[in-house]
Amino acid sequence: MNRDYLIKPLLGQHYPMISHGKGVYLFDKEGKRYIDGSSGAITVGIGHGVNEIIDVMTEQARQVSFVYRSQFTSEAAEKLAKKISDITQGDLNWTFFVNSGTEATETAMKLAIQHFQEKGIKGKNKILSRWMSYHGITIGALSMSGHPLRRQRFVPMLEDYPSVSPPYCYRCPLNLAFPSCDTACASELETAINRIGSEHIAAFIAEPIIGAAGGAIVPPHGYYQRVKEICEKNDILFIADEVMTGIGRTGKMFAMEHWGVQPDIVTLGKGMTSGYTPMAATIASDRVIEPIMKGSKLVMSGHTFSANPLSAAVSLAVIEYVEKHNLVKAAEEKGDYLKKKLEALQANSSIIGDVRGKGLLIGVELEGNVKSSSFIQNASNKGLLLYPSVAGRNGKEDSAFMIAPPLTITYEEIDELLQILSESLYELEAKQSG
Ligand code: PLP
Repeated sequence: MNRDYLIKPLLGQHYPMISHGKGVYLFDKEGKRYIDGSSGAITVGIGHGVNEIIDVMTEQARQVSFVYRSQFTSEAAEKLAKKISDITQGDLNWTFFVNSGTEATETAMKLAIQHFQEKGIKGKNKILSRWMSYHGITIGALSMSGHPLRRQRFVPMLEDYPSVSPPYCYRCPLNLAFPSCDTACASELETAINRIGSEHIAAFIAEPIIGAAGGAIVPPHGYYQRVKEICEKNDILFIADEVMTGIGRTGKMFAMEHWGVQPDIVTLGKGMTSGYTPMAATIASDRVIEPIMKGSKLVMSGHTFSANPLSAAVSLAVIEYVEKHNLVKAAEEKGDYLKKKLEALQANSSIIGDVRGKGLLIGVELEGNVKSSSFIQNASNKGLLLYPSVAGRNGKEDSAFMIAPPLTITYEEIDELLQILSESLYELEAKQSG
């Protein structure tokens, strides 16, 4: 073909043509092998080409692939919703299925607003969020996202929801240090609420660990306890966006379990189907749904493909696979191993500034004006795939990346990943110094 018809992320750029995937490896049509160090977009939690999932997918497709949710429910969707209720914290018992993480956060936002409307409380229509966050790409989800580069072109259409500093201890936006700061970044939420007025605010949304807009930034101890306290005091719902962190990625089934704080609404995507089919979800507590149940009964959202039986069957099989193979524990143990090795690399490196994250969601921030995009390209040339993140004090610098391989990765494969990573590192360091 001498021209492109497909709009790819960068027009005019060459992308390798995928052939197939197996386990933690991807192979292109030219026969090159890549170790999938980012699970694609932090998605393929159980690895590529798992036959058990493909069998479930085939079986469900034989029975029925699609039904319209206003006409039928399906065993697949009912069972998955029950499973999600079983594995989530506390009374997070209600699930609304959508097709992307963006739709999940957009639904969460609308659900929070509807919750107060159905209670007869008028005017709670705003959502608060943090700078250095990413919650999705539609106008509503982007309004909540504190990602300057992704917002830039659409600012006139967006709401100013990001109002709070991120818990970014490595470069504290408040120029403080933990623990003497007393989590002042969490207290900023209260300042924002007081400025805007809690009577106008329905919810606060945050990624438990900041992903694309920070590179696996983990908040300090006590942060989420304080956030939850402030939300409760002001009658504001707390939405945890677990699209990237959910289903074992961080060494807990849901990342909020690290802090023992139960959100009112949780969003899920990516790893819930491990990318075998598209599906995402908005999960709400009994308390959130109760006024809607007593009121209109109609959650005002939905998509043609919502609760798609094929994706629901796949997601249930993926979650069962994660449980059966103890992949949550594996993420914790293998994450610790990988992180320790990275810290050892950092100790001898002039360009690794910070290594952070939990489980198999690990972020690396580079120093000395080294661009993470060049690092990622170099590693990809050598057969290692990594995930880019913006970082830096202004949340715009091309300076971080994430390492987030499938939770099924073996110790030998981690060593192979580290070998390629250190080769890329040494090359870039040599370039810097020479
Ligand atoms: N929320 C978080 C935390 C994400 O990381 C992403 C995607 O990276 C989204 C929402 C949007 O998900 P999607 O790309 O599936 O629309």
